[in-house]
Amino acid sequence: MKCPDNIVLYMHEYLDEEIDEHDEELLKKHLQTCPKCQSYFHELEKAIALVQSTSHIQAPSNFTENVMARLPKEKRRVSVNRWFR
Ligand SMILES: [Zn+2]
Repeated sequence: MKCPDNIVLYMHEYLDEEIDEHDEELLKKHLQTCPKCQSYFHELEKAIALVQSTSHIQAPSNFTENVMARLPKEKRRVSVNRWFR
């Protein structure tokens, strides 16, 4: 089965919660039938969960806190997007 060209785009839209219902339906149907995309989707989810969990962790020391404070949110977002290649 050939993967739709836009299925990866849908994954990103879904994870960004910017997908519309129609596309979400297509994405879910495809994931049910395509193990390859399924595992890719799980990799994306894991990457995002990891980033989200680390951004919620309380810094154990002032040093780490200061470093985290200096990281602009925008920049973290860019590094997340690198996972999406
Ligand atoms: Zn596929």
